[in-house]
Amino acid sequence: MSDRRIGVYICHCGGNISDYVDVEKVRRAVQDEPGVVVAKTAMFTCSDATQQEMVQDIEEQQLDGLVVASCSPKLHLFTFREVAKRAGLNPYQYTQVNVREQCSWTHTDDYAGATAKAIRLVRGGIARTRLTEPLQPIKIDTVPRVLVVGAGIAGMRAAVGLADLGLAVLLIEREPVVGGRVAAWGAMYPHGKNGRQLIARLNEEIKQRENITLFTCAELVEKSGSIGNFNIKIRVGGNSGQGQEIITARVGSIIVATGFDNYQPVAGEYGYGIDGVLTLAEYKELLDSTEGKLFRHGREIKDVVYVYCVGSRQQSGENPNRYCSRYCCNAAVHASIEAVDKNPGLHQYHLFRDMRTYGKYELLYNQAREKGAVFLRFDHQEPPVVEKMADGKLMVKVRDLLTYSEQIDIAADVVVLVTGMVPRDNGSLVDVLKLPLGQDKFFNEIHPKLRPVETVVDGVFICGACQGPKNSSESVASALSAVTQSASILKKGFVELEPLIAQVDPEVCRWCGECTSACPYGAIEQVQYQGRAVARVNEAVCKGCGGCAPLCPAGAIDLKGYTDEQMKSMIDAFLKEIV
Ligand code: SF4
Ligand code: SF4
Ligand code: SF4
Repeated sequence: MSDRRIGVYICHCGGNISDYVDVEKVRRAVQDEPGVVVAKTAMFTCSDATQQEMVQDIEEQQLDGLVVASCSPKLHLFTFREVAKRAGLNPYQYTQVNVREQCSWTHTDDYAGATAKAIRLVRGGIARTRLTEPLQPIKIDTVPRVLVVGAGIAGMRAAVGLADLGLAVLLIEREPVVGGRVAAWGAMYPHGKNGRQLIARLNEEIKQRENITLFTCAELVEKSGSIGNFNIKIRVGGNSGQGQEIITARVGSIIVATGFDNYQPVAGEYGYGIDGVLTLAEYKELLDSTEGKLFRHGREIKDVVYVYCVGSRQQSGENPNRYCSRYCCNAAVHASIEAVDKNPGLHQYHLFRDMRTYGKYELLYNQAREKGAVFLRFDHQEPPVVEKMADGKLMVKVRDLLTYSEQIDIAADVVVLVTGMVPRDNGSLVDVLKLPLGQDKFFNEIHPKLRPVETVVDGVFICGACQGPKNSSESVASALSAVTQSASILKKGFVELEPLIAQVDPEVCRWCGECTSACPYGAIEQVQYQGRAVARVNEAVCKGCGGCAPLCPAGAIDLKGYTDEQMKSMIDAFLKEIV
C-alpha cells in the first residue's frame, strides 16, 4: 500500500512506441501498482491537449507524483517538469521512463519481449516516484564580470560584446600582444579585408570601453568556485618569476578563446624542407609583403603549385588529424586569386583531394578558375611527389583523377602546402579548468548543434578555433554565441542549479578521501565537523553523476532524487513477475 497519488501516462508516440509495444497492456499492468490513481495512454503525451489533460488530472485528483513513459529524457524531461510546475506539483516528483529509445526502437523484432520490458521500466519509474520528495533548485547569486581567456579575434570580439551588455570583462592574453593569428594576416577571404586592420579596429574598441581590463603576458593559474561565482588567479608577467604578479578576482563566467596552431609539416612531407616549398601561412606572408609581382631569391615566380589537405584528413601516422580543417580550401583559392591579381599571367595549379569551397565561397573557386587556375584531383593513396630539379626549379608529379589518372609533371617555382589547423597546447589551462578535450584534442562542447559553446563545466564556455577548425567569421559568430550564453546567466543576477546532487551524511562519514579522488569535477572537499574531518559536497559544483556514492566504504553518500532506497525499490520493481 502507498499513500502517494501518482499519475502514469504511456505514450504511443504516433506508432514509434505502440507499433512494437502493447501500450494498453502496459497500462493495465501498472494501473494497480501501489500509489497509482491515474493510468492512461495517449497518442502524443507531449501534445498540448495531453499536457492540458495532465494538468487537469494533477489538480483534480490531487496527484503528488507523475510518471510519463515516452521518449528519452534528453528530449522531454523539461517539457513534463513544466507540466508538473503548471499544475502546482514539485517538478522533481516527476519521472520520465524511456520506452522508445531504450525499448520499442531497440526491440522492433520482439513485440512480447518489448512489452514485458516496458512494463518493468514503468514499474521502476513508479517505484522511484513513490519515494520522491519535493526538491528546490540551488540558487546562486552571480558576479557580473566575465573572464575571457585569449585575445585573438574571437576573444576580443567577445570582450566588446560583453562590455556593451554592461558586464565587466577581464581579457587575458598569453602573448605580449593581442590579435592572435589574424593580426599577422593581410587580405583575408572572402572579401579581402585586412586582418591587421580588423584587429587594430577591435583593439581601439576595447580601449574605448572602461569596463574591459586587458592583461597581456597573462595566464589563468587557478580557478575555484562555481558558475556565477568563480574565484580566479591570473599570473601576469610571464612565468619566469621576475616582475610577476598574481591577480585575484571573482567572475561569474569564463569564456575560453585560445585559438589554434598552424599545422607544421615534418621534413620531407610533400618536399617540405626543400627551398621553395612553403606552408600556406609562409606563402601568405610573402603575398602580404609584396605589392607588385612576386619574387623569390630575386627570381620572378611564374609557376605555383598548391597541394591541399596537408596535415588534415590524414589516414595514417601515430596521431593522425582525421578532420577537415574547413578553412584551408577557401584560404588557398583566395590566395591564388590575390597572387594572379598581383602577377597577371602567373600559372597556378591546385592539386586537391576534394574541393571544399562550401556555400558562398564557391564563388571564389569560380573566380580562380576564370583567372586561369588549373585544378587537378589526386587520390590520397597516391599523393603528389615534390622534387628539386637541377636548374633549381621544383618538379611536382601527380596522377590526375579528372583525366583518368594521367601522370602529370609540373615544374614550379614555389610549392604551397595548404596546411590546416591543429589544436594548441593548452596543457595548464586544461588542468585549471578541467575542460575535456575531444579525440582531435580541441576543446569539446556539450552538443555541436544544440549547445555549441557550452562545456560540461557550468559557466565555462568555449568559442573560436579552440573548439575545432573555423574561419574568422565563424569564430566571431561562436564568440557572440558565448557572449549571449554568459549574459543570459549573469544579467539575471542568479542561477538555478539542479538539486539532484550528492550529499554526505557527516555523522556517518569517517574521512577516507575515496570520494574526493573519485569526483571528476572536484566537488568534494574536506571540512571539520564536531572536531573531526568529514567530506562535504559543494552543491554548486556537483553534477549529480553518482560516481562517488558507490565508492564510499561507510555508505555515507546518497544522491538526492536517486537515493539508495529509491534505487533498490526500482530494482525490486524491475524484477517483479509479469502475469
Ligand atoms: S578545407 Fe580543403 S584543404 Fe583543408 S582539410 Fe578540408 S578539404 Fe583539405
Ligand atoms: S555525484 Fe558526481 S559530481 Fe557530485 S560529488 Fe559525486 S562524483 Fe562528484
Ligand atoms: S568516501 Fe565516504 S567515508 Fe570516505 S570521505 Fe567520502 S563520504 Fe567520507
